[in-house]
Amino acid sequence: MARGKVYLVGAGPGDPELMTLKARRLLEQADVVLFDRLLDPRMMDGVRGEKIDVGKNAGRHKLSQEGINQLLIEKAGAGLMVVRLKGGDPYLFGRGGEEALALREKGIPFEIVPGVTSSIAAPALAGIPVTHRGVASSLTIVTGHEEPGKEAPLDWKAMAGLGGTLVVLMGVSRLKQNAAALIAAGKPADTPAAMVEKGGWKDQRMISATLGSIAEKAKASKIESPAILVVGEVVRLAEKLGKKRIAILRPAHQQKESAALAEEYGFSPIAAPAIALAEKPLPEDLMKRISSVECVAFTSANGVNIALKIPGISSALAGKMIVAIGPRTRQALVERGLEAEVPEEYSSSGLERMLRGKCQSILFLRSAQGSRYLSQGLKEAGLFVDDIPLYDTVPSGDPRLEELIMMIRSVDIFAFTSSSTARYLVERAQALDRKEELFEALAAGTVAAIGLPTSQELDRLGIRVDVMPEKFTFEAMLALLKEKTRQK
Ligand code: SAH
Repeated sequence: MARGKVYLVGAGPGDPELMTLKARRLLEQADVVLFDRLLDPRMMDGVRGEKIDVGKNAGRHKLSQEGINQLLIEKAGAGLMVVRLKGGDPYLFGRGGEEALALREKGIPFEIVPGVTSSIAAPALAGIPVTHRGVASSLTIVTGHEEPGKEAPLDWKAMAGLGGTLVVLMGVSRLKQNAAALIAAGKPADTPAAMVEKGGWKDQRMISATLGSIAEKAKASKIESPAILVVGEVVRLAEKLGKKRIAILRPAHQQKESAALAEEYGFSPIAAPAIALAEKPLPEDLMKRISSVECVAFTSANGVNIALKIPGISSALAGKMIVAIGPRTRQALVERGLEAEVPEEYSSSGLERMLRGKCQSILFLRSAQGSRYLSQGLKEAGLFVDDIPLYDTVPSGDPRLEELIMMIRSVDIFAFTSSSTARYLVERAQALDRKEELFEALAAGTVAAIGLPTSQELDRLGIRVDVMPEKFTFEAMLALLKEKTRQK
């Protein structure tokens, strides 16, 4: 029988793309894979062998270290190729050394495959280089989860005196005691400190504070394991190097373009379509109604795209004054060979000022759920206003929105691009019984509204608005967010 072998393989911090090529290849070739809980399911892609979860599993008890060693010996002893997949690097607080020794003792061949360790990768992914010229020239990695009464306790005094960067793994449950111990040992309480939770995962989070206040902040933010504590001046670099996570709630067809734009402005986009567009049947007297007004107004590029598919619409629009609510809407018209005027200010009074003396009657071609705020203002100013709904804005039903709600605490910025994005996000959270979490996250994060109607809707929902651009575009909103969140 072929002799079995065990590969002690590092899986990296959690993002399957941060596994090594060797790890990937061995996983695909293995007869058996032993893994711990909390692994991204995509890591196991391509695994054809038997998969054994040796980590804690709800309801089932975790296999003891002794049990794991036994299982490795048993499987390899039976001639199988065994991969023991471990988080980060197997030899850093992973008990990989113990497993290797147990195999060595039984004469079972094994090989170590190092991995990207979370102790360096998690800070990096949160914008913290663990060393930095002129800031920190040493790195100390310790475990924060020491068993009481252990013979060689952590030498906090030595660590407090080191000066470089201190990274504490398994740092959640004893965070308060450890921070206090460091301060008592002489580390200044105002030393910058951060907790990086789930580094490299989809719902990665980072909070930063000072050593004196980090425990309280972590508690308030409900930071959970796995997370690491970083102490030192390097934490400040995250302000420049870290990326804020922005939830983009626009319809699916606008996600790609929006994400690219968000990245350009230095944000990390999360696609979560809250709304979708459903085109409506058109009224039979559409052409007549167009011909009876002087002006036709569009309030979104979506509206333009739908309207211009209507046969004969171009000739019906010829000779009319065409109004676009913002530059993007105008651009959509220009792309179709139509010139349009844009008001200086996105409000009914701005619109009215622009129309004054030019037209007395106006027809809106827009979303059925569009704000009535514009038309109302114009009516009050004495204009004749008609309104034809082109499409319904409906809840998206997109699974990405649900995913976002389930990891809502990891969102730094909420980009509301219409009142319906706000309404449907809240509705969906409520349906998932996560409304409270959503409102907590909104209160802790930055809320951006693209324009006045969106802002008013947020207000009505009881959501504080932090940012609203003067120009009614997604890009203007990103530019303003960049300015505002840098100052924070
Ligand atoms: N061998 C692993 C560390 C194992 S100890 C490695 O090299 O990364 C487990 C601890 O690692 C956790 O308590 C946590 O502090 C840290 N950790 C592991 N994965 C992490 C991640 N994705 N983000 C933040 N911390 C992580």
